[in-house]
Formats: sequence, structure tokens, C-alpha cells
Amino acid sequence: MKIAVIGAGIIGVTTAYELACDGHEVTVFERRGAAAEETSFANAGIVAPGYVTPWAAPGMPLKVLKHMFSRHAAVKVGLPLSGSELAWMWRWYRACTPQTYLASRAQLQRLAFYSHQRLHQITADLKLDYDRSDGYMVLLRSQSDSDMVQAGLQVLRDAGVAFALLDAAGARKIEPALNPDTAFLGAIHLPGDEVGNCRQFCLMLKNESQSLGVEFSFNTSVSGITQAGRVGGCAVQIEGETTPRAIDAVVMCAGLSSARLLRPLGLKIPMAAVYGYSISAPLREAQAGQPNAPQSAVMDERFKVAISRLGNRVRVAGSAEIGGAPERHRASSIQTLYKVLNDWYPGAAAQTGAVQIWKGARPMLPDGPPVIGASGVPGLWLNVGHGSSGWALSCGSARALADMVGDKVPALDLSGLGVSRYV
Ligand SMILES: Cc1cc2nc3c(=O)[nH]c(=O)nc-3n(C[C@H](O)[C@H](O)[C@H](O)COP(=O)(O)OP(=O)(O)OC[C@H]3O[C@@H](n4cnc5c(N)ncnc54)[C@H](O)[C@@H]3O)c2cc1C
Repeated sequence: MKIAVIGAGIIGVTTAYELACDGHEVTVFERRGAAAEETSFANAGIVAPGYVTPWAAPGMPLKVLKHMFSRHAAVKVGLPLSGSELAWMWRWYRACTPQTYLASRAQLQRLAFYSHQRLHQITADLKLDYDRSDGYMVLLRSQSDSDMVQAGLQVLRDAGVAFALLDAAGARKIEPALNPDTAFLGAIHLPGDEVGNCRQFCLMLKNESQSLGVEFSFNTSVSGITQAGRVGGCAVQIEGETTPRAIDAVVMCAGLSSARLLRPLGLKIPMAAVYGYSISAPLREAQAGQPNAPQSAVMDERFKVAISRLGNRVRVAGSAEIGGAPERHRASSIQTLYKVLNDWYPGAAAQTGAVQIWKGARPMLPDGPPVIGASGVPGLWLNVGHGSSGWALSCGSARALADMVGDKVPALDLSGLGVSRYV
């Protein structure tokens, strides 16, 4: 089949690769000049399937309200909210029930574990050499942080995920550069999880896809999708062109813009931007052969800030903001990232010169899991709404979508991930 993929973020590139592996003729339309220029650009890079959980959780609304105006709050609301953001928050609030949470968590984790396997397989098959490290550690500052994670530990046990509960001394053995002056209670170490540079992987997989025949059309903005004359076909309208391009099938992978592109077709996907920030900086010089930085990735449970080692750089990422403008950087959110970095790894990063400060928009659905599968519009498929875990979910989502397009049964149960929950 001739297939158009809209968007060359991590979801679009993995989808194009899987479709090409199945022998389809694929063109990727991307409005930016390269792959992974938007939300897939500088995320935290964490792939921790047991920790992939929905943000719509019981007790979350109260937590958000309680901490909303505190300086280092993990979740912030930029007032005033637009009508669609308010509607999204209402749907999110209604999804914070134990029943919805448990169902969404099960769906997300099934997909995340499958995706982790597929990521390893692709990396090994193609010998992709991107910046990555094994292991993930959740740092617990106090007893109250420890109390917060207990329910999550049961999830890990139920899922058979290997993890160790460590005291501070045990955590320092695995991450020896942790600041000796910062006292903390302990940590959860997940040796099977990992951190990897999402953008670098995306660019490498884009090259591999090209050698399988995928065509990437950059600086090409899609303004709409229409039904083509023949049964089951679609047409893609490119901005600046007069005639839509007819195609056998279209896969929507346009991240946050997907909702806008789908609306004229009667598909109302409630997606909101949940903004976050990252700071990436070169590591300062090594001390006694060991850089003063994490070996892999750590997560500060209290501030929900991740510190990741990506080759010769350290990346600090966190914050969740609803509302506000994409180009406006909230100073207090950046300060929180520096505070957490300085608490755990003072002096790890060069803080001037080549420091990159980035704001990204998580394409978030109110209940949590993405939408993967047929759209209900003939010829149009969806791989959208991966929220805070798009890198961790990408390879599995792409493989499952390609199976469905090829009329094969995906290797994992996709129930609950379809569009029917919204339309
Ligand atoms: C601070 C932060 C930290 C994060 N940390 C992690 C993490 O540790 N682990 C994890 O798994 N995930 C993480 N995420 C989430 C992850 O980055 C996203 O889920 C993922 O990047 C979404 O990928 P995507 O391909 O759907 O969207 P995008 O990367 O935004 O790609 C969509 C593409 O579509 C293109 N496009 C849009 N409209 C059009 C159009 N009309 N025509 C043509 N092209 C179009 C865009 O230009 C863009 O390139 C984090 C996110 C943030 C913000």
C-alpha cells in the first residue's frame, strides 16, 4: 500500500519504519526541517515500563490543588485557561477514579513492556549506537516520599519487574556521584530500565527507514485530510498545493496538532498540551576519572524531576504545566530543575555556554493511554496522544499499528486503546 505518515516525531518515525519493514511504500510529511524537532527533541529519555502510569489517578486533583501555587510544585496551572483546556481538565478530573486509573494503568504498562522489547530488538537488529545507559533510580528524600511510592511498588511486583529497595548507602554504591551533603532516606533501583537519547534514536531510525525506501518530505505542512474518490482511500492536502494527494492510507502521528487535523473529519480527540522543560549541558571535567554526574538516570520523587546521563551530557527534565503559551518559559520551573540538579549533583554541568533550555508540549489525553488503531474514517489510522511516555511507548505502538494496517493480529492486547472511548 501507499501510506502517508503525518509527523516525524518519535511516533511518526517508528511507525514509518515498521510500515516499511512490512513492505509498504511510505512517505512521511513533516512541517519542520528535520525529524524530532518538537516534543521528541529533548525529553528526559527514560524508558521505565513499570513506571509508566496515567496522570489521571485517584487523589491527584487534590494534590494538584494543594501544591498549585508553591514555587517548586511539579504540576502548575497557567491562568487563565482556555475553554478547551477547562474541558480537558474536567475530563481528566472525571478519569481520576480508581476504576479508570486501574484500567488505564494496565493498558499503558502492557504497551510499555511490549515497546521495551521492540526497542531492544530494533536497536540490536540495526546496531543503533545512540547515547543510552542501563538502570533507573527513584530517589526518596523522606518517609513521606517513601509512603507515596508504596502503591507503585505493588504494581512493580505484580508486573514481575526486578527492583531493589535501597538505603542511602546502597543507592550511593550504584550512583557514587550523588552529593554526599544531601541526606536522603533511600531509593528504588530498577536495573532493567534505561535512559536513552530519544532524538538521536529517532534520527538514526529515520536514516534506516530511508534505506528501506521511506521518503521524508520535510518543510511540508499538511493542512487537512479528505476522503479520496475511490472506496477506502484518503487524500492529503499539503499547504500551498491546489490538489490533494490521493493515497491508500494515512497514519496520523502529528503529536499535539493531531487533534486539530482530525476535528474537520468529525473526530473530536480531547488532547491538551502539558508543558515541561529540560536543561541539557555538557558534563564538567571528570574528577579522578569519574564525572560528577549520574551513571544512568535518577528521578527525584518529591519534585518529579529526572536527571539523565546522555553520553557526555547531563539532562534535567520535569514540570507539568497546563495552560500558558508554548514560547513563554516560566522562570520558577527552570529554577526547580537547577535546584534539583544542585541538590544531587552540584557542579555536574557546565551552566553557561552550551546549555540548552527547552520547553516541550506533551500531547496528553485526559485518561492517559494513547489512541492506536483505525479512526473509523476509511483509510485513516491513528497513533496519537502518548503524553508523558511517548519515547517509552513508541516502538510498541508503531509495531502494533503496522500490524493492524496490514490486517494482522498485533502481538499485544490493544483493548481500551481504540478511538471508541472518545467518539
Ligand atoms: C519535559 C518532558 C520530558 C519527557 N520525558 C519523557 C521520558 O522520559 N520518557 C518518555 O517516554 N517520554 C517523555 N516525554 C514525552 C515524549 O517526549 C512525547 O510523548 C513524545 O515525544 C511524543 O512524540 P510524538 O511523535 O507524538 O510528537 P512530536 O515529537 O511532537 O512529533 C509530532 C510531529 O508532527 C509534526 N507535525 C505536526 N503538525 C503537522 C502538520 N500539520 N504537517 C506536518 N507535520 C506536522 C510536528 O512538527 C512534529 O515533528 C517527555 C516530554 C516532555 C515535554
